[in-house]
Amino acid sequence: MKLPEIHSFFDVILFPFRLVFNLDIRWKAALGLGLVLILAGIQLSIFPKDSRMGADKVAMASNGWLRTGMVDDNLDSMRVHRGDSLRLLGRQGHLLWAETTDGKYRGFVCDSLVENSAEDIRVPIRRKLSGYFISQKKFESLMSDSATTFGELENSYIHAEYIKRHDKKFVGEFGLMVEDSLGNIKRPVITFSADSTVNDYILHRFRSNSVLLGHPVIDIVSPVISTREFQKFSPFDNNILQWLWIIFPGFLPIYIMILLLWARRPLYFVPNTLIDLVLGALVVLGPLAWGVMMVKMGFSSVGVFLITGSSVLVGAFLLWLDYSSIRCPRCKHLRHHEFKQMTSGKPFVRHGYTEKVTRRETLEHKVETTIHKPTARDTMSHKYERHFGKEKVYYDIYEYWDTIKVNTTHFECPKCGHGKQESAEEILNHRQEYVRSYSREEKFDYTEKKY
Ligand SMILES: [Zn+2]
Repeated sequence: MKLPEIHSFFDVILFPFRLVFNLDIRWKAALGLGLVLILAGIQLSIFPKDSRMGADKVAMASNGWLRTGMVDDNLDSMRVHRGDSLRLLGRQGHLLWAETTDGKYRGFVCDSLVENSAEDIRVPIRRKLSGYFISQKKFESLMSDSATTFGELENSYIHAEYIKRHDKKFVGEFGLMVEDSLGNIKRPVITFSADSTVNDYILHRFRSNSVLLGHPVIDIVSPVISTREFQKFSPFDNNILQWLWIIFPGFLPIYIMILLLWARRPLYFVPNTLIDLVLGALVVLGPLAWGVMMVKMGFSSVGVFLITGSSVLVGAFLLWLDYSSIRCPRCKHLRHHEFKQMTSGKPFVRHGYTEKVTRRETLEHKVETTIHKPTARDTMSHKYERHFGKEKVYYDIYEYWDTIKVNTTHFECPKCGHGKQESAEEILNHRQEYVRSYSREEKFDYTEKKY
């Protein structure tokens, strides 16, 4: 592969793009797959382990409120007094996620209410957008399962964001993003019996969304689109990673398909026309599906539509460059036909006559004007001029002799030698001689639109 040349500062900026652009399609696919796997790894935080909830006890410095519920009729708070102790679980901006020392109430307090509210409180950072996506079907079966307990929900899914007592029972509001059958996101408020088993639950409308992923898709992609509370890293923490994370995962099916074509055997018996059709469909459907997941995560649908739309256009263009000859029709290797040689036929002479107009003389010229009045459909008026008449046209006749060579470029599959050719004519020499002149009368008739 030839490295892109650098002549100016602009070339330096374009260097990485040109480098990727020049890569063979299989390396582009491998690079894309690698990038998506790394970003998914960051999102799933498979490298460092998530840190646990903190457990620092602090005393309140002044009287205030512990908010213990967020949605609809679970909107609630509890009075806390100066000197009361709270166990700190995490920090979220200027709020502290905390619970009472008996664990009966959990929610958020303003950090200014807490002693040592300055930076010396060492609690893990809780992600504001944390939430676990789950289909309503899976959620309902969890709720009806008698083995489901408060502790199990916290361990396997996500912690209760808010907890409060209610008689002998207790109520937990979880950061579960339950997708209903219309695509809306709902948030559950679950009532537990004293033995921590599920007693009852209510789903509150949290975010309206007309795009439905549905069961089981949402449960399958959930780990990738959910944000865990104490997730160490996220592609959204960094501007560049964020853009890569928004654009590239949509092309994952394309990368996999091209790598399968490279491996040759898995798709050997699939005809090339079908491969081309499937690639064409995936270059649109993949980013579209990823766009839907982005909207589900809470991104603006207009922004996602614009970014996804542009990336589909660029992706389709890059694919189109390789489209017609993505695979050798005979041996099915994912390689371009490579330039083999150029051959030329014997030069031959093409002989003939040609004529050129030298002058026109108007003999008769009439003009007819028509004006179209405004109508309901077209509120403008229009003027047309028809010019017609007779003119005398003078011609020069030439005799010509062109020496022509036909060049044929031969391309060949580097694996099996399957060939294809492209031919083009080259004019080596053009010679013409004046023969004679003549003139004749001709009619003309044309219409001009004036406005
Ligand atoms: Zn071949």
